[in-house]
Amino acid sequence: MKIAVTINEVRECVKEWKKQGLTVGLVPTMGYLHEGHASLVDASVKRCDRTVASVFVNPTQFGPGEDLETYPRDFDHDVKLLEEHGCDLVFHPEVSEMYSENAATFVEILSDMPKQLCGKTRPIHFRGVCTVVSKLFNIVTPDVAFFGQKDAQQLAIIKKMVKDMSYGIEIVGCPIVREADGLAKSSRNTYLNADERKAALCLSKAVFAGQKLAEDGERDADKILKAMTDIINAEPLAKIDYVSAVDGITMDPVHKIEGDTLFAMAVYIGKTRLIDNFSAQ
Ligand code: AMP
Repeated sequence: MKIAVTINEVRECVKEWKKQGLTVGLVPTMGYLHEGHASLVDASVKRCDRTVASVFVNPTQFGPGEDLETYPRDFDHDVKLLEEHGCDLVFHPEVSEMYSENAATFVEILSDMPKQLCGKTRPIHFRGVCTVVSKLFNIVTPDVAFFGQKDAQQLAIIKKMVKDMSYGIEIVGCPIVREADGLAKSSRNTYLNADERKAALCLSKAVFAGQKLAEDGERDADKILKAMTDIINAEPLAKIDYVSAVDGITMDPVHKIEGDTLFAMAVYIGKTRLIDNFSAQ
């Protein structure tokens, strides 16, 4: 597996592959990789001739007071995991390689979509995500890019950006990978102490309970949200940021399950903000 730190190195490598007629998959990440990330690499390796993963903690998607400085990093571990899963190229740029000092261009969706759910407490987050993913698309020029359904709003926003900006890139969403006890895998789980780790199970418990209600035929989204909220509120260490039902494509709030509906939540466990979700039809 090749490690590239400059944009030019990536371009040279991909150019060579394209000359040979090979297809290229991209897996964008912020590193500190776990089996959730690995599942995206597996999906890409299966689907594409060559796989590129990026490991870049993107400063433009962190707001003031968020965890940019403390975000966990372990590049040696990431390289090992990527190599084991058959990744061909890892792009690990410095911030200065991705953003020149006077960079002033952003990619931003101007509808309400990025203002819903996580956008309420993270107003600049999706502008940063769209900007960095757009740059990665321009640098890597993949045929297919893989994103986790764990970040369901991000996945919906990337699909919208790709459509609006006419990127000729297929976006593939991959299922949420969980710990054995149900907790969605996340680099941020490392922030949790032992008591918080136990308390964090209220997110997946709420997801599973909501999912069961929907599967059993409940169509009233507010009833499902109430059941989910009760489970989280029963946990003393948990503080709800949001538990919401939205249209799976537009992210507009809904009260009934009529089409593709996303039930999503963000919950603080102590100081750590965790997210989880499920979709119902
Ligand atoms: P991150 O490094 O947190 O920015 O995540 C990089 C990619 O991995 C995103 O597309 C995430 O949605 C995806 N991802 C993170 N955690 C999981 C998980 N538990 N299951 C599936 N995909 C995940």
